[in-house]
Amino acid sequence: MTPTKVTSEAGTTARLIEKAGTWSAHNYHPLPVVLARGEGVWVYDPDGNRYMDMLSAYSALNQGHRHPKIVQALKDQADRITLTSRAFHNELFGPFCEKLCRLSGMEMALLMNSGAEAVETAVKTARKWGYRVKKVPRDQAEIIVCENNFHGRTTTIVGFSSEEQYKEDFGPFTPGFRMIGYDDLGALERAISPNTVAFLVEPIQGEAGILVPHDGYLKAAADLCRRNHVLLIADEIQTGFGRTGTMFCADHDGVKPDLYVVGKALGGGFLPVSGVVGSRETLGLFRPGDHGSTFGGNPLACAVGMAALDVIVGERLPERSAEMGAYFMERLRAMKSQRVKEVRGKGLLIGVEIKEEHGTARPYCEKLMGLGILAKETHHQVIRFAPPLVMSREEADWALDRITKVLA
Ligand SMILES: *Cc1c(COP(=O)(O)O)cnc(C)c1O
Repeated sequence: MTPTKVTSEAGTTARLIEKAGTWSAHNYHPLPVVLARGEGVWVYDPDGNRYMDMLSAYSALNQGHRHPKIVQALKDQADRITLTSRAFHNELFGPFCEKLCRLSGMEMALLMNSGAEAVETAVKTARKWGYRVKKVPRDQAEIIVCENNFHGRTTTIVGFSSEEQYKEDFGPFTPGFRMIGYDDLGALERAISPNTVAFLVEPIQGEAGILVPHDGYLKAAADLCRRNHVLLIADEIQTGFGRTGTMFCADHDGVKPDLYVVGKALGGGFLPVSGVVGSRETLGLFRPGDHGSTFGGNPLACAVGMAALDVIVGERLPERSAEMGAYFMERLRAMKSQRVKEVRGKGLLIGVEIKEEHGTARPYCEKLMGLGILAKETHHQVIRFAPPLVMSREEADWALDRITKVLA
């Protein structure tokens, strides 16, 4: 890979950052870098400086930046037809749903765009199933969620967040959610009532700081759900498609949930493509008019989604994530840094928790940026390392040498 020099006027980065600050709402606190080009695990700023992307757009870039097979699929489809709406059929919609269902061992898909929309779709699916199949009294359905969850930013979803900042000023919220501790089976058992329709859970809590539950948690939760006629909904938007070393993170526990919520890497780093995949018993309940999305299932998204899945399978990204993740984590642990409280994760979803007496994670991320590594703090004390799954051993070593410098 030869880094192409992107020529720009001096001060371009500063000018662009200032413009963003003037003309955009300040709903993010980005690292002070502008990305102008990307390829594989590498990104470049307007002056041609190269960085390794260790965030992968929160795991939406498992296939790396601009994977050539996905670029080709996008271009080919852009030359044919890009948007039909679901008022008409398109050539790729059925084939893409089939591919996604076969890959996940499910029977039906309902396609959306963003992750939050897919979570909303799962909530609607569970409630509909609750009233139609489980026969819960009208408007009494309860969905159990976990503390420190992250499922997106709509008003309904932030309403069942435990993060005060996500909710502040945005109420009133949707009722029908009950919160329990994560990784707590007793709490799940106690929270289930005759009106419980679903347990919505992340197999690893990414945004909460890469919190990994104990082995067997999801399996036991799945058993509890089954015994009580409650749907298990796995939000695999971040953990799915190889990120944690298996196709889905639930595979580590040998669990097949009733519904998978998927997004992020399903769009191959190109487009928002999301959906809910599950059984005919649940998704088969939708009738025309019950739910929809203008862009959901559009032919361009389907073309990109198919290529994105082909790359994940064809390049054995789950296996590569498992191998490289084990190596990466072993080397991070071997550092035995005095500043590090814990290294945890699965596959290439890795969190390094900084001891509080050594400050927050943010200054470490800024130092890493100075050495050419883009990583982002999550939840104050944790640096997340989640590079594209196409990362090579040499690229991993390159990164680890620099991470060692910053953490040692
Ligand atoms: C990113 C994420 C979402 C929300 O996805 P958006 O595309 O940002 O709406 C939901 N759940 C999990 C676990 C996520 O990581």
